[in-house]
Amino acid sequence: MNRITIKDACKYFGEIKALQNANLTIKSGEVVLIIGPSGSGKSTLLRSVNRLENLTSGDIWVDEDHVTGVNSDIRKIREEVGMVFQNFNLFPHLRVIDNITLAPELVKKSDKKLTKDKARELLKKVGLSDKENAWPNQLSGGQKQRVAIARALAMEPKVMLFDEPTSALDPEMVKEVLDVMLSLAKDGMTMMVVSHEMGFARAAADRVVFMDEGQVVEVGKPSDIFDNPKELRTKRFLEHIL
Ligand code: ADP
Ligand code: MG
Repeated sequence: MNRITIKDACKYFGEIKALQNANLTIKSGEVVLIIGPSGSGKSTLLRSVNRLENLTSGDIWVDEDHVTGVNSDIRKIREEVGMVFQNFNLFPHLRVIDNITLAPELVKKSDKKLTKDKARELLKKVGLSDKENAWPNQLSGGQKQRVAIARALAMEPKVMLFDEPTSALDPEMVKEVLDVMLSLAKDGMTMMVVSHEMGFARAAADRVVFMDEGQVVEVGKPSDIFDNPKELRTKRFLEHIL
């Protein structure tokens, strides 16, 4: 079953064609890594899936929900599709635990005690049980990102989007975040990850997508894309980053 369907996605910012007929389908439980040069449309594609961007034309579905439909329920989509950003975007004025409980309490009107118990469970999952009452500025980058992941998971999404989740981190903190993502992948979460972390790709990704100039140029298993790319553009890009 397709969990995410992206069909002929186009997004123009004035003259700039950020997406040009991008097509991609992702099955439930699949982990898809998206690579490509800066400006190739990776973030725009991700942001269109939870409607942080509105497509100029084309369609996106998450299961039966028509994300790009005129009558789509954006609130429901944002509940179903969690997102983790490069710069964490934690609420600086809220303690770690309150960062995690805020959205479920507000949006889902969940029971306070249940929400808090769930948040503690998630903190345990990301290895930060002892940071429940810390303020975001007391945390390292890797810890902030793990809180951001826990916060997104608190909404019980069916899809998680990660936009360069480790690129703002010091090298020694990259692994602790990738390990959390790897365990999520193993738990069966459907994930779209923009990242150039090849180790993670080989360990966790079912497929790798190469984007260039707003298009999905090539899709394949990590070993096929990295060791045996078919398209010249993919080859050139990989020579550049490997
Ligand atoms: P990537 O994430 O692959 O680096 P983006 O999706 O961020 O690429 O951007 C694709 C193209 O769209 C780039 O040329 C970028 O400058 C442009 N772009 C992205 N967001 C905006 C925006 N809000 N306004 C104008 N141009 C944008
Ligand atoms: Mg980007």
